[in-house]
Amino acid sequence: MSYKTWTADVSELTKAELKDKLWEEIRLKADLGTEGVDITKEALLVAELGTRHQEQVLGGGRNRETSAKNVLPACFYLPYGLKVTFTWNKNSLYKIALDKNKPVLTYKEEKIGEIKYAKRPKYHSQSASDGTPLYLIGNGSFYDKQIFITYSNECSYKEKGEDCLFCNINYDRELYTEKYGTYWRNPKQVGEAVKAAFTEGVADHLTISGGVIAERRELDYFVDAGEEIKRVLGAEEFNGTATVAAPLDFNNIHKFKEAGFRTTAMNLELWDKDFYKAVCPGKAGGSGGWDNWVNALEYAVKVFGFGRVRSNFVAGIEPKTKTIEGIEYLSSKGVICSFNIWAPNVGSAFEGHRSPETSWYLDLGEKVAAVWKKNGFTFEKIHDATAGDYRLPSDIYRTENEVFDIYNDTLK
Ligand code: SF4
Repeated sequence: MSYKTWTADVSELTKAELKDKLWEEIRLKADLGTEGVDITKEALLVAELGTRHQEQVLGGGRNRETSAKNVLPACFYLPYGLKVTFTWNKNSLYKIALDKNKPVLTYKEEKIGEIKYAKRPKYHSQSASDGTPLYLIGNGSFYDKQIFITYSNECSYKEKGEDCLFCNINYDRELYTEKYGTYWRNPKQVGEAVKAAFTEGVADHLTISGGVIAERRELDYFVDAGEEIKRVLGAEEFNGTATVAAPLDFNNIHKFKEAGFRTTAMNLELWDKDFYKAVCPGKAGGSGGWDNWVNALEYAVKVFGFGRVRSNFVAGIEPKTKTIEGIEYLSSKGVICSFNIWAPNVGSAFEGHRSPETSWYLDLGEKVAAVWKKNGFTFEKIHDATAGDYRLPSDIYRTENEVFDIYNDTLK
């Protein structure tokens, strides 16, 4: 058994015992997702964020507090190695505190166990040739073996008041204007960040995402970015995902493939058409509507292949049965569907709402992992198509199918 943790000794455990331990940690992680976590000032002071350990960058998309002035952890690892995205909630009963100068997770002041922050990639301290810090172009994660590039920090749907109700991209842009300004990452910058992350061994996969640009100019941008990535990597294709709003002209999907991307993603978010219209008015109106998104996803499978297309869901807004219906349908067509625990974040129209119960997400996570298995999606395909291996269905899939060795080199 090649599973390694950074605190717990698993050498004496059987596979069944290890799975039990991981399931305990999955339940804890899910609860941390719905409840969020606080951190003491003392723990923050010695966390070495932005130097040795990775800090949140470009706003905390999942925070329940405004965090522009705080430097917060990007994530932390539980004792058996599961990665938890740091979702700041000052009122949470979970807290990161210090015990003998080491960071520990507590619940109602009772210690649960020691935690570890993520190692900050070396390239995060380097700059592109035009002086832009590379970590602001693409954020790398050893755990996920992935670099996430946000090409812009605004979405044009705001102009008509049609932002998705769960999204705070435009709020964050205004909040962080002083710190980061409004930006548009050009292909050269993207190529330099990808090259640095791949060379360091932080990532073997990249995702490019961002807001929708007026007149759909982002569609041509993806082609230019892909060509530049191919050039810097000296390859005909690369392990990257072009995350786009569904195009009206499906020829664009062929262009992404020709530009070198191995996978593409169109995040439908909700399966119920009426919820979709109400919650994602820009997507519903500006990208051909729900039917066009579903048609585009099915078309993309013909171009990229079965299991080479992804769609994400914001789980917890529509009834669970609807989300499952959508995930089952799209998966049977070759689209890998995933979800994150919805954290109604500050600055979105849903600010102040609550996500469903932890058990709601655990049930959905089990069902999604089973759908992946049923449709023959290997973990390699899931890794290549999704924007990180840390989501609940990924944890469950790995535990149930004993895909253990992926954790090993992240925890050194
Ligand atoms: S399309 Fe929706 S989710 Fe995507 S950036 Fe715009 S408002 Fe946010």
